[in-house]
Amino acid sequence: MKIKSVKHHGPSGCPGNHSNDMVIGSRAWCVEAAWGQQEGPAYARELVDLLHWGMERGINGVDMLHGERGGYADPGGIVLEEEAIRLRVPFTLGGHVRHGFPPWAPESMFERRPDLFRMDAGGKRTPTGNFCTANQEALGRAVGELTKLLDRHPRARLIQAFPDDVLGGSWCHCPRCQGRSPADQYATLISAAAGALDARMPGMEMGFLLYHDTLAGLPDKPVGADGSRFVPPNVYALYAPRERCYAHAIDDDTCPRNRFYWQSALRAREAFEGRVDVFEYYGDTVLWRGFNVAIPHVIAADLRAYQRLGVREVQALVFGTCSLWAHGLNLAVFACLSSGLESDTDAAIARHARERFGRKIERRMVEYYLALEKAQSLYLGFCHYEDEWMHDLRSFFAPSRGYAEHRQRAARCAEPFRELAEMLSQASDHCEGGPFLANLKAEQASLEIARIELEKLELRLAIADERIVTEGTDVWTEEDTARQSAAQRRQWEIAKTVPVEIRGRIFVGLAPSEQHRENQAGNCPN
Ligand SMILES: [Zn+2]
Ligand SMILES: [Zn+2]
Repeated sequence: MKIKSVKHHGPSGCPGNHSNDMVIGSRAWCVEAAWGQQEGPAYARELVDLLHWGMERGINGVDMLHGERGGYADPGGIVLEEEAIRLRVPFTLGGHVRHGFPPWAPESMFERRPDLFRMDAGGKRTPTGNFCTANQEALGRAVGELTKLLDRHPRARLIQAFPDDVLGGSWCHCPRCQGRSPADQYATLISAAAGALDARMPGMEMGFLLYHDTLAGLPDKPVGADGSRFVPPNVYALYAPRERCYAHAIDDDTCPRNRFYWQSALRAREAFEGRVDVFEYYGDTVLWRGFNVAIPHVIAADLRAYQRLGVREVQALVFGTCSLWAHGLNLAVFACLSSGLESDTDAAIARHARERFGRKIERRMVEYYLALEKAQSLYLGFCHYEDEWMHDLRSFFAPSRGYAEHRQRAARCAEPFRELAEMLSQASDHCEGGPFLANLKAEQASLEIARIELEKLELRLAIADERIVTEGTDVWTEEDTARQSAAQRRQWEIAKTVPVEIRGRIFVGLAPSEQHRENQAGNCPN
């Protein structure tokens, strides 16, 4: 099959070998730019620092989600956008319906104009979720808002308009939409918006998020039997395989879960005629909860797969200093390998170990990272269970007898974690001190938080395995809740001792429950 060549944007003055098989033309941080009035500017400064750190390692783009809320630019979003313009770094803008954009049809209109809103599966109109894209007025309102968004940010290279952030079921079931897949309904919005944006500013691009229920239901061919295109040529897929398996590479044929995701990536390449960007989660603190995930070899294999696929950009989601602290190796390896700064995975790991912990303990820290990656495979792999849809370590669990095995695997990590802690302890005896020692202490804290996260994982697995399957209930007892909260509090206390300045809001997955509720009620990034 011939792959259509794709244009690359952004600066290309990155040193190193560009002929290797992991280099991607555009490598970007993807950030949740908005963080509210109070913490927005402090958090944005973390993101600015992280952008500089990334650019030194080959990052050449930034993709800002939710830089606006309700039609108003967030102070943090403004700081980051101004910095991107100053640095001449290409950037995109956008986010999810309901927490990124102005209300296209405000809820207050629902009583008067229910036809603008979607119909749920039960045949009732509802102001929740996405809207009815078959309704020309609703569609016109949405396109109008996206045009205004572009007018407020004319330097953006691409605008994203993501559907509601749910696994599924947030689409329209009205007589006109019924039978149209989520991807099809979404294509109606994106195609209309792409046309309007291109008319406003020729060459402007529009993204098409392939995530949750829009991953499936793509057409086989970009042009239908009637000659109509699925989407116009200024639309780029944004392939976001969040529930993929991170114990295996995205194209690993032995991983049942990734087989599905890779098939959908191949299909996206067809439907979008090669115009595919990728949204990856290598530094996603929300997804990884309290785990200090280090997956350099999976990232390297992913990059090879994505390069073969012919993607234009690969993004890694980051949450400021916290991501650098808990997933810094992933970010460094991603940036260095995708830019060609390093062409060997182990060399990229060594580079990060040297830069972060000093030459004297570089070798020890490389061994630590490799041991951590090996231990993780025991609890990261949720891919071989029978269930059609399974959650993984990042969420609560559907009932499954498969979890009994996973509990055993999680329990088997206790010994490797003791060894990992010992490796760090010995490294600290030989560390050069100063910022290197501070970073090492941060890593020790991160590992201990991950060890406690394993205890929490085991508890959730126990409930899913024993209680749901054998007793038919998933109700948590008071004792379970108390255990979970106590573990969270211990993690929170350890996090506070980290000798690395973390300014913005960070611990979405780590905070004690009361803190988490505060986040939810206040300016939670999601
Ligand atoms: Zn409809
Ligand atoms: Zn797998």
